Amino acid sequence: MSKVSEPKIKKWRAATSLVRGGTKRSEFDETSEGIFMTSGYVYDSAENAEAAFKGESTRYIYSRYANPTVTMFEERLALLEGAEYCVGTSSGMAAVFASLLSQLKAGERVVASHALFGSCHYIIHDMLPNFGIDIQFVDGTDLVQWEAALAIPTKAVFLETPSNPTLDIIDLRKVAELSHAAGARLIVDNVFATPILQHPLELGADIVMYSATKHIDGQGRALGGAILSNDAEFIENCLTPFMRHTAPAMSPMNAWILLKGLETLEIRVERHVQNARIIANFLSNHDGVERVLYPGLDNHPQYELAKSQMDAGGTVVTFELIGGKQATFKFLNTLEIVDISNNLGDAKSLITHPATTTHQRLSERDRADLNISESMVRLSVGLEDYEDLLDDLDQALKMMQRD
Ligand SMILES: *Cc1c(COP(=O)(O)O)cnc(C)c1O
Repeated sequence: MSKVSEPKIKKWRAATSLVRGGTKRSEFDETSEGIFMTSGYVYDSAENAEAAFKGESTRYIYSRYANPTVTMFEERLALLEGAEYCVGTSSGMAAVFASLLSQLKAGERVVASHALFGSCHYIIHDMLPNFGIDIQFVDGTDLVQWEAALAIPTKAVFLETPSNPTLDIIDLRKVAELSHAAGARLIVDNVFATPILQHPLELGADIVMYSATKHIDGQGRALGGAILSNDAEFIENCLTPFMRHTAPAMSPMNAWILLKGLETLEIRVERHVQNARIIANFLSNHDGVERVLYPGLDNHPQYELAKSQMDAGGTVVTFELIGGKQATFKFLNTLEIVDISNNLGDAKSLITHPATTTHQRLSERDRADLNISESMVRLSVGLEDYEDLLDDLDQALKMMQRD
């Protein structure tokens, strides 16, 4: 866990924090941050070891607790997020699990939006009840459902906005108010929005988590995750002991890759968004496309809400084709540049068919409730030239329409 101290001169803007935040040079004066591939640390005396274990000195003891490269990653991301604390984890799912299980006890209650990343849904829906935790799902876009669910005392609220794959927007300010009135901490999975486009802590959330595997790496190389918060009681009494003793810890190698990913995060997200907007517009006007879901287009049902809490519409465009599963598969198989892959936030444009991949575990009814049809695809827009992407989408749509 890293507690961040503000830069001395003044608060840095995002681009500066991303390039310089958290850097700790070793005695060798390296430009690029060091990769400290070490599990342990040595003490110059038995007395110093004793003091370290008593918590009388702050120093590295064991990499399950903390590691210098991981610290650099945590501090850099915390500066960007404007959070006092950041904890790196081995993956996004480790961050989700730790943010919930570190603070929950049997008999307590969790409320969550039902449009969640598949594994998040599994943890809440399938696992939490095994620990004696009550759960309730709501349609995240319906404030009446949130009000009813949060009329009962609750320990934690978990949601994702924009949601995967339908890009629904949840009103963070309102749900934060309702959560606090119910005694709950609001945890926001901010992966789709990225730390560049949405700042949940400023909108009232208590905890923000990321899969750093997505945009933060952005180049498909490493798994990682992070939990950020300003809630000292949660970090010190819940999350820190949970991390120390169960240890879904981030590896120093991955921390270094992700630290380098952060350096270019802002400019990459800007380009992802530019390309995504152009593609969303193009698809909206294509006669092979039934419907486009992109929070940055004014035809999105929650465009105004998206504008009020996000700086742009994001890097993912979801759309429905005219035709069933067979036509949709034909479209996917005909793409030449865009790869079929369930990952997202990558430099490479990636497309997935949620109904048969990320959301195939759900029952047909649950998929229908979430509006995930057989003709829906989710496109994570990459950094290629947008004209090439438009050409590729167009030729595949035309091939699909030919049958
Ligand atoms: C990928 C993802 C996760 C899980 O992250 P991993 O790094 O794959 O464990 C959680 N939430 C969302 C929204 C994601 O896209």
